[in-house]
Amino acid sequence: MLRGTLPLTLLALGMLPRSASIASAPRPILITVDDLPIAADKLHRDPVERERITRGMLRALAKHRITTVGLVAGKHHPTAADEKLLELWVKAGHELGNHSFSHLNYSETESQPYIADVEKERAWLADFLKARGRQLRFFRFPFLNEGNTPAKLRAMRDYLKSSGQTNLPVTLDDQDWSFEEAWVAARKAGDQAAMARVAEDYQAAMRIHIGHFESVGDRLFGRPTPEILLLHAGEVGAEQWDVLFDWLEKTSHRFATADEVLADPAYSTPHDYVAEDGVSLWERIKAERRQSEVPAALKTALDAQVAAWNRGDLDAFVALYAVDATFISPSGIAHGRQEVLERYRRKYPDRTAMGALSLDITETRLIAGEEFTFFGDTVVGRVQGATVAARWTLAYEGKPSLTGSTLLVLCPRGNDWEIVQDASM
Ligand SMILES: [Zn+2]
Repeated sequence: MLRGTLPLTLLALGMLPRSASIASAPRPILITVDDLPIAADKLHRDPVERERITRGMLRALAKHRITTVGLVAGKHHPTAADEKLLELWVKAGHELGNHSFSHLNYSETESQPYIADVEKERAWLADFLKARGRQLRFFRFPFLNEGNTPAKLRAMRDYLKSSGQTNLPVTLDDQDWSFEEAWVAARKAGDQAAMARVAEDYQAAMRIHIGHFESVGDRLFGRPTPEILLLHAGEVGAEQWDVLFDWLEKTSHRFATADEVLADPAYSTPHDYVAEDGVSLWERIKAERRQSEVPAALKTALDAQVAAWNRGDLDAFVALYAVDATFISPSGIAHGRQEVLERYRRKYPDRTAMGALSLDITETRLIAGEEFTFFGDTVVGRVQGATVAARWTLAYEGKPSLTGSTLLVLCPRGNDWEIVQDASM
């Protein structure tokens, strides 16, 4: 096919090869800034310094023609001078969103007091914005903690919906705030070499975080995903964002608005991620997917095992057991795949004795949790194993069926699974 005649439908369906020009289009990225006006209050108490930092951040954003969503937390703007700083953001064309009043950790707070705290800041910020011809649309969870129980997750979703706020997720998670203290200490000491080291580490860490989480999103959706970067309001940002934004531009990113990024279908992917620690949206979706993909893979493996039994192939049947598997039954314990095979051969010497096996899975649980990266980001951990509770039935011609329960413990084996423990009764 000639390049010039590539049908438009292929373009629309995203079926172009990666080398095609559409794949190298700059990736849209929304810049968001948390904890306005200044995140690390303790490091920056002087109002003059707070304004200098604010103007520095706004200068870097303006230079790269970036419109951000800034997330405002009440505890960071206790004075009228701080409100003036928020005013600077509004005047520069940035959108302000709610980040709660006290920046509570939802995993450590019940829904009622948490929602009251979020609502306190919403009411204040909505008025502040209304007086300036703007509207409050977004909320971001402090620490990205959206709920550590299903009920808490639901409670906040209901509250946000009823109060007209949209949760603004983060896809590019990072630890930018952790450089603030070292930067300020180096600057106060006038230590140019130390400042240069902090700057270098900051940029390197940000590049690694951004590259990592972009690859997570791209793998999930099979295409370059638009991203939302988390930054924090502070001095290291005021000094380093220009270099960071330069790098983003050079590495095929295009600064985008919240509306453009959120309109991408990836952002409408449903998920009910419940955990103690907040994670990137891509991690939440990854966790949701494996919640259905792993049980499906296990069912496929067990169905194949049942089929092996029903064609009288005991060797194929026991192949799903790990070499060192343990089999527990009322008649005793078998250690290792070979012993398991011998036990089956003794108990079921021929096809008549084997009958017709069926397995009805009643519950599958994943053995998986959260892990922490070298940088301290929380990510969804690998699935280390799974447990399957099931009812087995052996049907015979001309005599009653046998039935019982089984609890299987399975672990990943390469791209497959193996039974490491089997308790059948
Ligand atoms: Zn925050």
